[in-house]
Amino acid sequence: MMKVLFAAGEDRWPLWEAPLTKALAEAGVKAEILRKADPTEIEAMIYAPGGETPDDFTPFVNCRAVLSLWAGVEKIVTNRTLTQPLCRMVDPGLTQGMVEYVVGHTMRAHIGIDRVLATQDRWEVVLPPLASERPVAMLGLGALGAACAQALAGLGFPVLGWSRNPKEVAGIACHHGPEGLRTVLEQAQIVVLLLPLTAETRDTLIAERLSWLPDGAVIINPGRGPLIDDEALIEALDAGRVAQATLDVFRTEPLPSDHPFWAHPKVTVTPHIAAETRPATAARVIAENLRRLRDGEPLLHRVDREAGY
Ligand code: NDP
Repeated sequence: MMKVLFAAGEDRWPLWEAPLTKALAEAGVKAEILRKADPTEIEAMIYAPGGETPDDFTPFVNCRAVLSLWAGVEKIVTNRTLTQPLCRMVDPGLTQGMVEYVVGHTMRAHIGIDRVLATQDRWEVVLPPLASERPVAMLGLGALGAACAQALAGLGFPVLGWSRNPKEVAGIACHHGPEGLRTVLEQAQIVVLLLPLTAETRDTLIAERLSWLPDGAVIINPGRGPLIDDEALIEALDAGRVAQATLDVFRTEPLPSDHPFWAHPKVTVTPHIAAETRPATAARVIAENLRRLRDGEPLLHRVDREAGY
């Protein structure tokens, strides 16, 4: 019987207990999920940062996998005591939630829902372009970015994608590397950020790069707050170069009450709700990785510690 520590917060356990039990049974994995244990006995850890979760992984000398419940691992990937293999979460439920958020906010900008609501008493006939005339840039073509890019392409948007390494995603014009960013931004009327937070991606959208966007572009950031320079974004919004920003993630969360984003008429703040890991589907991913651990097979979704994601 494999001993697995649920180090993801006592308050989350009730949400996970039944789905994990079911998924482990379906995967044929015999595991004892513990919420407290002698660290030397633990063979794998289900992890989410915060609260009572460990900061020091040194005592977990027999732990062969740390399985993150979250897709973003920036809070744990730089922990020097973590020598155990780390896997991030790729969950169909999480991906579907992100697709819905990104498609919803892209469509809101595209068909001008805010303007329609603000002017509905005036019978103003303003025809939006068709999706085929509105290029979208997807910064990040991973599990989430690629799914969102393909959903938007399916609606007719020309989608330009950007990643670190060369990539092929069906229906998407893929670019990569620092030179690819300019190509993508220069054409984008809507920019979606779905990059992980790493040393390289921090401040991806600084003033100079915001100036590459066509006038009136819209920014949607469900990635991570520090991907954008807040002050540069506010300047671009005030100057009218960027028309609107929908931001789900921030440098400090919850967003401090005195932050200018709250009152800015061109900013929509959402409280880091773009997408959540869904226990019903994610438990199967955890169970599959525990099965692989038991059977000595390569783990799914291993984090590249050097790249930081
Ligand atoms: P993945 O690791 O699957 O994909 C990351 C993508 O970013 C890859 O395409 C990668 O390129 C690209 N990338 C990384 N570094 C660079 C770089 N320096 N330059 C260009 N491209 C780069 O991550 P996910 O899609 O699963 O998740 C993305 C992020 O979404 C998470 O890290 C998290 O921050 C955020 N998130 C937000 C949520 C919310 O509710 N707001 C919920 C869940 C996640 P390559 O393909 O070449 O490796």
